[in-house]
Amino acid sequence: MSQQGRGAGRGKGGDELVFVALGGLGEIGMNAYLYGCGPADARRWLMVDCGITFPEGEFDPGIDVILPDPRFIEENRGDLAGIVLTHAHEDHIGAVIELWPRLKAPIYATPFTAGMLRAKIGENGRQQLPINVVSLDGRFKVGPFDIELVSLAHSIPEMSALAIRTSLGTVFHTGDWKLDATPLIGKPLEEGRLARLGEEGVQALIIDSTNAYREGSSPSERDVAKSLAEIIANAKGRVAITTFSSNVARIKAVGEAAEAAGRQLVVAGRALHRVIDVAIDTGYLPPGFKRLEQEQFSYLRRDEVVLLCTGSQGESRAALARISEEEHPDVSLSKGDLIIFSSRTIPGNEKAVARIQNNLARIGCDLLTDREALVHVSGHPRRDELRRMYGWIKPRVVVPMHGEARHLKAQGELARETGAQTVLPLLDGEIARLAPDPAVIDDAPVGRLFRDGRLLVPEADGPVRARRKLAAVGIVIVTLCLSRRGELLGEPQAVLDGVPTETADGEAMLDLVLDAVDGTLRSIPGKSRKAADLVAEAVRRAVRAAVHEAWGKKPICKVLVNVIDSK
Ligand SMILES: [Zn+2]
Ligand SMILES: [Zn+2]
Repeated sequence: MSQQGRGAGRGKGGDELVFVALGGLGEIGMNAYLYGCGPADARRWLMVDCGITFPEGEFDPGIDVILPDPRFIEENRGDLAGIVLTHAHEDHIGAVIELWPRLKAPIYATPFTAGMLRAKIGENGRQQLPINVVSLDGRFKVGPFDIELVSLAHSIPEMSALAIRTSLGTVFHTGDWKLDATPLIGKPLEEGRLARLGEEGVQALIIDSTNAYREGSSPSERDVAKSLAEIIANAKGRVAITTFSSNVARIKAVGEAAEAAGRQLVVAGRALHRVIDVAIDTGYLPPGFKRLEQEQFSYLRRDEVVLLCTGSQGESRAALARISEEEHPDVSLSKGDLIIFSSRTIPGNEKAVARIQNNLARIGCDLLTDREALVHVSGHPRRDELRRMYGWIKPRVVVPMHGEARHLKAQGELARETGAQTVLPLLDGEIARLAPDPAVIDDAPVGRLFRDGRLLVPEADGPVRARRKLAAVGIVIVTLCLSRRGELLGEPQAVLDGVPTETADGEAMLDLVLDAVDGTLRSIPGKSRKAADLVAEAVRRAVRAAVHEAWGKKPICKVLVNVIDSK
């Protein structure tokens, strides 16, 4: 790889350990991190995670999913030794299937993460990817990187931090984590293992910043399980619970609470069934985990059912949205039923969630969210947990990751307080040398790819920008035919879309547009009309001005002039 600009000259021929994020530094989502090892012109790369993010609200019309632009590593894919996945959340694995054809490197994942990825591949009907299943807490080599997985608690099974040993030192890449002495799934934290890593010496710590400005420690998943069990035991009518479908511990807690209360668990939503299947396959739920299909819901008495359903983020096609609109084929709720949001509303989804909650309130259901009761905990570390991590790892260099700018800043300040020698406050695309001599050395091209229908479109290409404008001001299209000599042939035509049909005086907007076209054509002398592009521009300006005067807004205006040869 050529390294120009800031990096030129430095470390020429010498080995370096570098780091760059294609996504995840400056947003929560789209995590895709690269480690490079070797001299500037002959580096081998390791990719850690390859996830998606979601657009916020109506800002990106027509776009459901956003992927990191992989062009930097795509150009050097011969040097990409492998892709290691820390855990199966969409913001970490969601882009793997679509971007893999551009990267073509072996994938490494633990059994549950691999199972979730394979389940997704199966649904998409795509070819198998080369997934190497590695054991939990295993150690393996990927090119020049000696990788040891370190299990940490999170809101999904098998979250694996990476201790990456290289000839230039060790990096500890935390992934998403929290400290949980009593997790429902997976073993309790092995503090000794982290402390030993710190004693061995860690050059750089790349660390989760999601909750970096929340003081204290997050409650344990077991506390949530206890609270849910109590609420369900005391409920009189039906109980419905929605949560993040990948939270297997929560699913397990709900199943156990239902059973303890003498209720049956009914599961609604494909994503939940997929996760439960993978969790049974990999041993995180018992083979006999009892769940009924949604078709059985209506046969159960109100006090003998717990419904677990998708849609905690207000997703319009998920089970809960359809239930709240009383349009679900099998499930209906009524006055006095209890709905528990065992989740946190991700920023950007507030309106969609509120819409569902209002619908449920109209039906007469009682709502319970994490504001009223301990029905959810975050899977990310608060400041006391971060402090303990710094205490064990004692890194020389800290790179805050997994956060918006404000989260990264809070993490950086905390890192300094705990005595880190160097904090590198990086954003996506900034290439930093972690060792030797830590510094920002160069920039990599980064960006966002929109999944637009079947295509991946770079954000900068602009179809979405055009759509935003269309949404705000509509469009007027005018067509007209001219002969070679500049005579008007036939009548000009116009189409208006997204523009009001009448002016305040009751004049049809279409007539106003056609009058403006006529007036303009009449005002252009015959000779000048031979220049079709001048005519088109004059008509465009006149139409836009006329509509602006009547409406107060300027629509997008396109004029197509056909020049006909005959006569
Ligand atoms: Zn994440
Ligand atoms: Zn996660």
